[in-house]
Amino acid sequence: MTAAADERIARLVRQHAETARLLGVDFVPVIPRPRAADDLDAAAPDDAHAPDASAVEAPAAAAPQPPLPAPAPAPVAAASSRSTGDLDRDEAQRRLDELRARYERDAPHKNFITAHTNIVWGEGDPRARLMFIGEAPGAEEDRTGRPFVGRAGQLLDKMIAAMGLSREQVYIANVLKTRPPNNATPTKEEASLCAPYLFEQIAIVRPEVIVTLGLPATNTVLGTNDTMTRLRGRWAEFHPPGVLTDPIPVMPTYHPAFLLRAYTPENRAKVWSDLQKVMERLGLKGPANK
Ligand code: URA
Repeated sequence: MTAAADERIARLVRQHAETARLLGVDFVPVIPRPRAADDLDAAAPDDAHAPDASAVEAPAAAAPQPPLPAPAPAPVAAASSRSTGDLDRDEAQRRLDELRARYERDAPHKNFITAHTNIVWGEGDPRARLMFIGEAPGAEEDRTGRPFVGRAGQLLDKMIAAMGLSREQVYIANVLKTRPPNNATPTKEEASLCAPYLFEQIAIVRPEVIVTLGLPATNTVLGTNDTMTRLRGRWAEFHPPGVLTDPIPVMPTYHPAFLLRAYTPENRAKVWSDLQKVMERLGLKGPANK
């Protein structure tokens, strides 16, 4: 067997192991085929604002689980190759740093009330093929200055690992770069004051796919005013403003904090089915689970 075949099999095994963990080994003696998004959509609650991680009840699957080997990241080349003509990684990082400096000078968050200590700009591979977008930092993110590092972030890490990737291979950002007081859902006005910086972040990273986490991020990125029930699990497009480039496919899915609150087999299966669509698009799915 070739090294490439070995790697493909290893990735499939990792994906299956992580699938079991993501879906919760407490209820999965046999992993059911995820139902079609449309079947499940009618029953889906709309997403709510991500609560502070500490306010989220522990999910049933947080019960002790058999340890699984840490998934090895997929080969960097597979997750980070770019089409020709794109910025190189150093140049992309330089532009992101420049944009951050501009954000800090402009300080759009001065126009509304925040409860922040640190600006949470975003992090990851500046040339990532996959970008996750959440709504706003929570307490832990504010404390550390890093996105998605609280309980919701730990679940996001598992989702990323389930896709056969590592956090370093994707880019993670939020609509708001500062923590709202009491973890309130960002208002439309707050989101629209900060969105231009997010849109520029996206235009620099130029990922092949964006996953929006929850309703505020989804509506901001898509410019919609719709419900998660209607948007989740369906491909949409982000059109980078003022940039002559192809639209970027967007897959809206539930926010991990919502998933922690409503940790049902149905919701987990929906998120996993959304992520599988993304994996398929990025060529990260082995032939056996297509
Ligand atoms: N929720 C978000 O939307 N973003 C974070 O960074 C953390 C929690």
